Amino acid sequence: MEFLDALSQQLGPGAVIHPGEGMASYLTERRGLFADRPVRAVLRPADSAGVAATVRMCAQQGVAIVPQGGNTGLCGGAAATDGGEAIILSLERLNRIRAVDADNFSLTAEAGCRLSAVQAAAAAVDRLFPLSYAAEGDCQIGGNLATNAGGMNVLRYGNARDLTLGLEVVLADGRIWNGLRALRKDNSGYDLKDLFIGAEGTLGIITAATLKLFPAIRERATAIVGLESAESAVALFGILRAESGDTVTSCELMGRQPLAFAIDYAEGCVEPLPAAYPWYLLIELTSSGHEVQLGRRLERALSAAPAGIGDYRIADNADEAAAFWRLRNGIPGAQKGAGASVKNDISVPVADMPGFIDAAGAVVRDACPGVRVCAFGHIGDGNIHFNLTRPETMDDADFLAEWDELTQQVHDVVMTYNGSFAAEHGVGQLKPGEVSRLKDPVEQDLMRRLKSALDPAGRLNPGKVVPPAED
Ligand SMILES: Cc1cc2nc3c(=O)[nH]c(=O)nc-3n(C[C@H](O)[C@H](O)[C@H](O)COP(=O)(O)OP(=O)(O)OC[C@H]3O[C@@H](n4cnc5c(N)ncnc54)[C@H](O)[C@@H]3O)c2cc1C
Repeated sequence: MEFLDALSQQLGPGAVIHPGEGMASYLTERRGLFADRPVRAVLRPADSAGVAATVRMCAQQGVAIVPQGGNTGLCGGAAATDGGEAIILSLERLNRIRAVDADNFSLTAEAGCRLSAVQAAAAAVDRLFPLSYAAEGDCQIGGNLATNAGGMNVLRYGNARDLTLGLEVVLADGRIWNGLRALRKDNSGYDLKDLFIGAEGTLGIITAATLKLFPAIRERATAIVGLESAESAVALFGILRAESGDTVTSCELMGRQPLAFAIDYAEGCVEPLPAAYPWYLLIELTSSGHEVQLGRRLERALSAAPAGIGDYRIADNADEAAAFWRLRNGIPGAQKGAGASVKNDISVPVADMPGFIDAAGAVVRDACPGVRVCAFGHIGDGNIHFNLTRPETMDDADFLAEWDELTQQVHDVVMTYNGSFAAEHGVGQLKPGEVSRLKDPVEQDLMRRLKSALDPAGRLNPGKVVPPAED
């Protein structure tokens, strides 16, 4: 029996999608850089045993596996590489919340649960699961862990790795590792879960996770501030963090250019302040306490803020706060309205951010006169999306032809600050070349050894993350 027929029999009806049978949504890719790569089939097991059976049969047949969650990744990790011989293993049917333990502040969810469903399960027991960002209605918790996703609340709660207590993983040989421990302390050996978090499906397939919960948010204060410089943004962030009892949960930087794109092209986005500023900070303080008066704290800190801080507005109500967030969340989509963009997801130490923005800006303007720098993102984590939108007079295709050259030049500046060229979106099939070019050779060697120890035949998401060894 052909192996897909055998799998179909084992996994049950609806679990195998063949080419031409409604596969399109699994082959889309957000940036259109790796879309429509053919595969042999999309496999949709319904539980961990089904994932294990799929992996075992693929191993026997020598078939490569591309794990796929919500397919919102931005580096082509969930798309096949060229060749058409791989299968996509979709986790979407593993979508049960297995357990919620309010007293232990933990929750166990299957990999295919959407992030918004995990947040809702926590909220239902008056708890918070703090991972949050614009794609939360589409991405899955397994994908979030596989990419070690960041988002809006990292500076207060950490990234996906920091929110994980335990994992269940299907290994390359089809065995299931049950590491679903809900412990805060466990030094009984190597912390294996950390190998799979951020590995983008190259070391194992995450089928479930036990996650940390926090007290629910009772009070929130949101403000948008106009600034003369990125230096003022860093200074203000420091002051707010120190003066607010460490209640700063989000601190998002937006240049005037991306804000203008949001106002021009994203629905429901309007000018937030009477005058325009070169930079804006969107700040949110939150507290689980009652009557903490965060709005007053924010007002006090902003009114005593140093030079370079312009006008500001503290949201009067949830609708106004949502309007500020709409500006921030509207930027990635709005950029498309202004033409093709080259994307950079970088991090440097927070204090170096202004220097990086100046230096990288000078480099790209020199390389591509008229390029529109569209810098925005999580400045509180030292992570911004240093995106570049094509010059108004340039053709999209001509601009995209410069992708490698422009990103390499930006990454070279990042490296002078000892930063990262892949801060939160990962490597996927977009950046293995940069891993090879920029990462310490010892680190690369360790990555290859880990890969060959856990996936000796190289069938889990081949061509992603780990660059091939040089001859
Ligand atoms: C509008 C928008 C905003 C975004 N904002 C942010 C942001 O603020 N912060 C951020 O970090 N990211 C952001 N992203 C990127 C993306 O949402 C994240 O990378 C997310 O974690 C991917 O989850 P997913 O379920 O869609 O995974 P997919 O895209 O399906 O897969 C991503 C990678 O993980 C692997 N994978 C998926 N599921 C599993 C599994 N169960 N086991 C093993 N490997 C698996 C895939 O093979 C692939 O390599 C944004 C994306 C969009 C579209």
